[in-house]
Amino acid sequence: ALTAGIVGLPNVGKSTLFNAITQAGAESANYPFCTIDPNVGIVEVPDVRLQKLTELVKPKKTIPTAFEFTDIAGIVKGASKGEGLGNQFLSHIRQVDAICHVVRCFQDDNITHVSGKVDPISDIETINLELILADMETVSKRIQRVEKMAKQKDKEAMAEFEVLSKLRDAFEEEIPARAVEFNEEQQKLVKGLHLLTSKSVMYVANVGEDELLEADSNQYVQLVKDFADKDEAEVIVVSAKVESEIAELDGDEKEEFLEELGIAESGLDQLIKATYQLLGLATYFTAGVQEVRAWTFKKGIKAPQAAGIIHSDFEKGFIRAETVSYDDLVEAGSEQAAKEKGKVRLEGKEYLVKDGDVMHFRFNV
Ligand code: GDP
Repeated sequence: ALTAGIVGLPNVGKSTLFNAITQAGAESANYPFCTIDPNVGIVEVPDVRLQKLTELVKPKKTIPTAFEFTDIAGIVKGASKGEGLGNQFLSHIRQVDAICHVVRCFQDDNITHVSGKVDPISDIETINLELILADMETVSKRIQRVEKMAKQKDKEAMAEFEVLSKLRDAFEEEIPARAVEFNEEQQKLVKGLHLLTSKSVMYVANVGEDELLEADSNQYVQLVKDFADKDEAEVIVVSAKVESEIAELDGDEKEEFLEELGIAESGLDQLIKATYQLLGLATYFTAGVQEVRAWTFKKGIKAPQAAGIIHSDFEKGFIRAETVSYDDLVEAGSEQAAKEKGKVRLEGKEYLVKDGDVMHFRFNV
């Protein structure tokens, strides 16, 4: 399963946020494919379409889809040289598919800041630099291996050497690998290096509990946004403290509390949705009287693989998928009505599954 890692300097609010994630806690029995690990929190993906389908189909139960966040132990300056939990930290980051970088934007004199003052850009750069240094080491080692062969005009080595040199030059200017442009062939080589700075990143600005509504007037948040713009990264504003309070409430209580605060959607829900996008994930649905359920797939997969997410037998014996888009189904009002309007398609093995497809798989056993 794909997972997003939560990283950040010490005392920026990572644990508080991660606790909110585990508190909001998904029923792990529904998600046998998820990891059981204290550093992994399973989150359910909020999706209004699922409620709407439930109203239409009136199933016995409704199950949202879920994915994982991994809490990555505090990074400190020098991690790439093994300081703090350095190596462990880097190997944990290597295993995640995207990075949620938590940045301290709250003022609180009682809570020590590792570098003495609140300075989000310097914080971001500290972590980014450690990741770049670690990647620099990976690239340098590789260069040592291919340089000689490249000089002897070995075609493959020359191509790799070109890619590695380009990366090295970028790293020297503190530019992450994801910002370097490569052609398709080169991208494959870069992918094989499993670099930390190739991973997609999103910034999470943690503001004080009383600042949530006027986050735009928080100068630190502005700085993070400007920085993220250059990195083409998204910024989500949360108050980790508020989120940990919200996470203890259920359904109606949560709605009331959000209303009191004057916000439409909790920061955590925004974070979950944004991370889902960042991971390149999308949702299809199955809707029967027993169960209406959302399923996560990686964008770009075909119908048999989508079926395989439910059960490997569905993929092996795949015949076709009766498919209707969520919009068409809702507009028609029922599956029967959608069928009569010709909106239900029979899709085969080459069908690229789309976000919002409602699917019924036919398969041989
Ligand atoms: P971590 O080291 O990044 O995991 O940070 P923690 O989550 O442990 O938070 C460090 C301290 O900052 C704790 O005492 C938190 O209660 C506090 N903290 C976290 N978020 C906020 C916030 O939004 N406002 C205030 N005032 N304190 C916060």
